[in-house]
Amino acid sequence: MSGFTRRTFLKMSAALGAAGGLVPVDRLFAGAAGAGAKGGPVVISTWPHGVPANAAAWNILSSGGTSLDAVEAGVRVPEADPEVRSVGFGGLPDEDCRVTLDACIMGPDGNCGSTAFVEGYMHPISIARRVMEDTDHVMIVGGGAEEFARKVGFKREDMLTEEARKAWVKWRSGMGDGDDWFPGGEKNHDTIGMIAFDEAGNLAGACTTSGLAWKIHGRIGDSPIIGAGMYVDNEVGAAAATGRGEAVIKTCGSFLVVENMRRGMSPEKACRAALERISEKHGGKAGFQVGYIAVNNKGETGAFSLTGGFSYALARDGRNELVKAGHLQQG
Ligand code: ASP
Repeated sequence: MSGFTRRTFLKMSAALGAAGGLVPVDRLFAGAAGAGAKGGPVVISTWPHGVPANAAAWNILSSGGTSLDAVEAGVRVPEADPEVRSVGFGGLPDEDCRVTLDACIMGPDGNCGSTAFVEGYMHPISIARRVMEDTDHVMIVGGGAEEFARKVGFKREDMLTEEARKAWVKWRSGMGDGDDWFPGGEKNHDTIGMIAFDEAGNLAGACTTSGLAWKIHGRIGDSPIIGAGMYVDNEVGAAAATGRGEAVIKTCGSFLVVENMRRGMSPEKACRAALERISEKHGGKAGFQVGYIAVNNKGETGAFSLTGGFSYALARDGRNELVKAGHLQQG
């Protein structure tokens, strides 16, 4: 899991300086002043690497840009950061030491695009956007997505860093015949999901990941699946997920959060109720992490997680804060 290191803070401060007007933060809030506040613009994203991502998104929103442009620009920051081990370049590989990436994007008009199991491209979120805007499909995956990316002009690059390769070698050398297919994956659940609410009151969302570390080659999680890893209904709200993708897919997680808001729940309550669904299905003992973030159509925000340790970044009113989410279970 990402730590909130001094290095992260220094990089974040530089990014915030570039954003102009946002106040750098150096502490983790137990509850942000802006959480739950109304109105836009606002950006919310998962984990500490959401802070510099929010700053990039805020740059777009504060100059009158759209929520859709903001979320794409925002999540491209961790996608390009080799120190973020769970997204894009530098992401931990699968069991065959291949970095395969998943992403999706959705705008206020309900249009959406997605890509999954993509190798060799740094910005799957931008591939997803091109799928949304240049085709009448929603999802293009694997070799087809790589061919599509090449045709629309994206550059092919090696996504495996030396650090990620070394981590794989270490994991592989510790594997025995009796090991199952969930080795170490739980330590790597830091997908970035982001929701932006712009001045015009429009919502958009993005989600991008290298997925669980050491996953079976070909495994796709929730992150590129519209309604699981992320969902937007401009009339109601938007949500995004991080954590054990299989549990999120099985409960249509982000869609469920939005439907909970449709039934009148606050964003935080809507996230919590969707996590209770997962918990119930595991007899109250889900031994993994899932976190949700949400924004409603008034610009109110909320988040919640299954187990402790989930933090999210919230940018609003000139501040960009890391906030600790509440959680259902111990551990
Ligand atoms: N949700 C992602 C997946 O299952 C993992 C993560 O959040 O890092 O692929």
